[in-house]
Amino acid sequence: MAKETGKHGGGCYCGGVRYEISGPPKWSGHCHCRSCQLALGGAFMTWAKVAAGDFNVTKGTIKVCEKTPGIERGFCGDCGTTLTYAAKHEVEGQDWRQDAWFAATTLDDPSIASPKTHVFVSHRQPWIVLADGLPTFPEF
Ligand SMILES: [Zn+2]
Ligand SMILES: [Zn+2]
Repeated sequence: MAKETGKHGGGCYCGGVRYEISGPPKWSGHCHCRSCQLALGGAFMTWAKVAAGDFNVTKGTIKVCEKTPGIERGFCGDCGTTLTYAAKHEVEGQDWRQDAWFAATTLDDPSIASPKTHVFVSHRQPWIVLADGLPTFPEF
């Protein structure tokens, strides 16, 4: 598997869902929003994105939770690992359907998704201390 180009695999905790991305992630960042905290069961979520056509499920099926209309959070129906995030409509004037968002830490090699920012730090838990020097945003 090539380091900077080529295909990279990923999947959930139980191995029931596997996916493949073509090329390295275009972007990665930490989201501290309350929705991510609850969906993940963790303090913050590290998302990455590739072009929509560069993300393909190769095994199993991603289940979707649409608590907020138009926002689909994908996860493994067996082990519960958070896998994907999709907005059916524009968010802040941007069409998110051009990209496939997925959980960076579910890559077989998460080190290829180097986060660039922290978003929704207004929801950050007070016991999480940010010391990596990355830019922070109160919301998005
Ligand atoms: Zn699973
Ligand atoms: Zn979030």
